[in-house]
Amino acid sequence: MANALFVGSSPIEESSIIPTRKTSRANSNVAQRSADATGMVSLSHTPSAVHAPFLAEMIAEARAGLAEGGIPIGSILVRNGQVVARGHNRRVQRKSAILHAEMDCLESIGRQTAAFYKECTIYTTLSPCSMCSGAIRLYGIPRVVIGENRTFCGDEATLRADHVQLELLDSNECRELLEDFIRKNPSIWNEDIGIIEN
Ligand SMILES: [Zn+2]
Repeated sequence: MANALFVGSSPIEESSIIPTRKTSRANSNVAQRSADATGMVSLSHTPSAVHAPFLAEMIAEARAGLAEGGIPIGSILVRNGQVVARGHNRRVQRKSAILHAEMDCLESIGRQTAAFYKECTIYTTLSPCSMCSGAIRLYGIPRVVIGENRTFCGDEATLRADHVQLELLDSNECRELLEDFIRKNPSIWNEDIGIIEN
């Protein structure tokens, strides 16, 4: 699988978006799943080896964002067990209205066909907001792996209603990274999710 799956040019710095090939192939068929009453698939019994390399990849993206002075939320796109795109929240860095981590990730790989997206899983350290969920639904990405949804729970209900498969890792590292940022930068966080401050 050494052939390049990363296609398209990118408007974003190459150094920050070129997928590494160190990520091992991951079996997308999780052997032991259990869904709770809301339909959320819990990964508590899933062999950690399945998602661990991808969890590490998206956390690395979140940390890269933090190092740039941004909000530590990361995202990667995985296709055929390979990371094909990566991104992190860049609203602060780019003074952007739309560059949440998932949007930055999708934008980093540029224009793709619907057939391409159909074969992808998007990983995100934080539950996708309505904007990012909209992009996921628009392009028909069938599966979302969520680092955590305790800090913020996005538009999971709509994703589920649209038959998008959601899997929750409930990662303490994802949560603590973001919660620490929010404690120090509450205004930036509120702005990111469209909340008017008193
Ligand atoms: Zn978002």
